[in-house]
Amino acid sequence: MAEPLLTVRDLSMTYVRRFGLFGRGAQPIRALNEVSFEINAGETLGIVGESGCGKSTLARCLLRLLRPSAGSILFDSMDLLALSDDEMRLMRQRMQILLQNPYSSLNPRMNGFDLVAEPLRAHAAMSRKEMSERVASLLVEVGLTVDFMSRHPHQLSGGQAQRIALARALALNPAFVILDEPTSALDVSVQAQIINLLIRLQRQRGLTYLFITHDLSVIQHISDRVAVMYLGKIVEETSSEEVFRDPQHPYTQALLSSTPTPDPTSDRQRIILPGTVPSAANPPAGCAFHPRCAHVMDRCRRVVPAQRNTKADHRVSCHLYDSAQ
Ligand code: SF4
Repeated sequence: MAEPLLTVRDLSMTYVRRFGLFGRGAQPIRALNEVSFEINAGETLGIVGESGCGKSTLARCLLRLLRPSAGSILFDSMDLLALSDDEMRLMRQRMQILLQNPYSSLNPRMNGFDLVAEPLRAHAAMSRKEMSERVASLLVEVGLTVDFMSRHPHQLSGGQAQRIALARALALNPAFVILDEPTSALDVSVQAQIINLLIRLQRQRGLTYLFITHDLSVIQHISDRVAVMYLGKIVEETSSEEVFRDPQHPYTQALLSSTPTPDPTSDRQRIILPGTVPSAANPPAGCAFHPRCAHVMDRCRRVVPAQRNTKADHRVSCHLYDSAQ
């Protein structure tokens, strides 16, 4: 069997927040708590959860923009946490990220040509003519025309700006792209176009994606597998089909109940979760979801649930499944 392109094991990230006079007080904040998963080459793993669940911290740790407190990250069999800063800079050519707000990643003073050519100038030796041809080809690949070479970010719609950001991300032929809420700042009509573009590019280039979102309905169209995160931990992981067919963790069930269903005969009841995600500075004891869970039992308040396989390819962390193997 082929090795996964990305293997993450027991990844934890604890920040220390300073407070008080001269920052003498220190409070640990556990943003990631023993997160493990694998992504095979050419696949998409969707990471789903509300704001504050640790999704973006995870993305930054994978690119080593943050150094995790514990755990390991193997990318193409390379231990990313053992690489020097220079080796990691080279490795990031193969690992790119597309952000929620494309304008935040595009220098407003640069035109489309310079924005897409910038990574090529930094890493690839090319003549001006070769670079011009390469930029034109990348623009066409993301559904734009060569006219966009002369446009600046303020002259672009949200969808066009996201396409330029995507052309930039693809310039160095990455193998892996982190898509951090890439459609949530866009109009609904444009969201579907960008998702379809990402799917087409994945097929054509054999890309591997980590797709981060708070919206399960987006995941349905693009992900092979789904991992649901709550307060820095993966609470459920399975295939995309299975998570929609048989969501098992009460948090996943609540997230799913709030996504629109195309089936008019569906009798799915909306589950309203009380409160918000608790602070990672002061997580609840036992199961972190217990203050919001309709199925809470006494042991949920005391004991952290272990991750169990409820089916061959379905893992859940919840005391409701304690008898599962
Ligand atoms: Fe709810 Fe208990 Fe399961 Fe946590 S462990 S999700 S509180 S039933």
